Amino acid sequence: MELGTLPGGITLFIEDGCVRLESELKESCPYCNKTDCCFDCDQSQWDDSLEDEDGTNNRVRWNAAIDGLESLILALASDPDLEFILSNRFNNAVQTALDAIGNEYGY
Ligand SMILES: [Zn+2]
Repeated sequence: MELGTLPGGITLFIEDGCVRLESELKESCPYCNKTDCCFDCDQSQWDDSLEDEDGTNNRVRWNAAIDGLESLILALASDPDLEFILSNRFNNAVQTALDAIGNEYGY
């Protein structure tokens, strides 16, 4: 069951009493489509046509920042105080954090 959506399209679900988070904020490697690829796949090691080394480093930093934010949201959402997570106050805080991440890492 969907609980609600936060800024950035971060959507919270509850299933069997466990809160789950989905978003498409993390950027994928253009060659293997994995968000955690950091020159792991063969093509990313020699092909710069879709993403060069700086692009990979920027994507990895962006994904790490998003991962931290999503981990915090998930930890808070697991608390019984779910009403706060869906409040305007928390939504504004998430938007501010996303803006700060965007300003720092450029996506
Ligand atoms: Zn890859």
